[in-house]
Amino acid sequence: MINQKMRELGAKRSVIRELFEYGKKRKAEIGEDKVYDFSLGNPSVATPEAVNAALSDLLSSENPVSLHGYTSAQGDPGVRAAIADYINFTYGESVNADCIYMSVGAAAALTCSLTAVVSAGEEVIVPSPYFPEYKVFIEKCGGVIKEVACDGELQPDVMAIENAISEKTAAIIINSPNNPTGAVYSEKNIKALTEALRRCEKRYGHPIYLISDEPYRELVYDGVTVPYLTKYYNDTIVCYSFSKSLSIPGERIGYVLVSPRCEDFTSVYQAVCGAGRSLGYVCAPSLLQKALPYCLGKTADISVYDRNRRMLMERLSEFGFEMIRPQGAFYLFIKSPSGDANEFCERAKNHEILIVPSDDFGIGGYARLSYCVTTEQIERSMPAFEALAKSYKEKENG
Ligand code: PLP
Repeated sequence: MINQKMRELGAKRSVIRELFEYGKKRKAEIGEDKVYDFSLGNPSVATPEAVNAALSDLLSSENPVSLHGYTSAQGDPGVRAAIADYINFTYGESVNADCIYMSVGAAAALTCSLTAVVSAGEEVIVPSPYFPEYKVFIEKCGGVIKEVACDGELQPDVMAIENAISEKTAAIIINSPNNPTGAVYSEKNIKALTEALRRCEKRYGHPIYLISDEPYRELVYDGVTVPYLTKYYNDTIVCYSFSKSLSIPGERIGYVLVSPRCEDFTSVYQAVCGAGRSLGYVCAPSLLQKALPYCLGKTADISVYDRNRRMLMERLSEFGFEMIRPQGAFYLFIKSPSGDANEFCERAKNHEILIVPSDDFGIGGYARLSYCVTTEQIERSMPAFEALAKSYKEKENG
């Protein structure tokens, strides 16, 4: 019998995909340059040369049979060792290759981690707004998502999280820099959060895993730093991806890092490997794994995103839009002038601007704008944003 839950998931496109498809159709109707598509979080700057060079070197110098062969299920040992060395050097950690499980991007890192530590009926706390796939991933392992709204600065509301944690809580997922808000969670907030989690672990007598979803770790601006969570909390599982930092989202490569200080580390790591096996991942793409040691610490040219961010902040504020300054990722979370996210995005559509209503991210009243587009598109879209802002003022004036 067909699994109806899976059928529903496959049949229904996400709001973001729906908007992207609408954008393609609209561009065909009125012209590519007349539609301002800010819907998708697909990196828009070139992959750094180091990636292409590593791939060509591997293709020309390595034995093709082993290069394209299966690696061990948890990933090539040399690659995992190189990543561990990089983490130790960069964040002052002391992890080793056997803490790392190579994955098919952050999405697979998340499904492996959640499947490893969440049993049917257990709860996973998610500060909202959040990446909508979390709900899909949590529910696939029989877990229950428990959304807890962020505070007015879009930081996790620690007191509300502590109140939401119960005997049934298995994990919390946090994502900083954040999709959809661009917020970077401050060290002060992380310290308070991890203290609360420790209190709850003691209160309920079992581990509560902190799953840190980090596809945007390197995409930060204004000199902010992103706290490395294993340093603050023992029961941490990092889900990392190279999709955004190296502009290679279609290549599908990332990893899970289980903190060596996790309670019962060996069982957690084994459960991650077992989850990968049960989900049929076999191993992460071999060629991409082997390119990584040559690319660690490199990023695509993120100054383009910073330029886009500054330009948007400045101009949209001038037009009267309100937003919290994003410090990372490539998203701007704009307040709907009417307070209604759908109304705002539909009205934007009338001006050929495609932005995503926030309801699907678990919070009303905002729209997400992805600024991983060309700076030229942003410049071209300004008259449309100005007209959109004006349309609200006209309404106010009568
Ligand atoms: N987590 C967040 C917050 C994301 O925004 C994305 C992709 O946009 C993912 C996970 C999935 O990343 P990946 O392409 O590495 O699977």
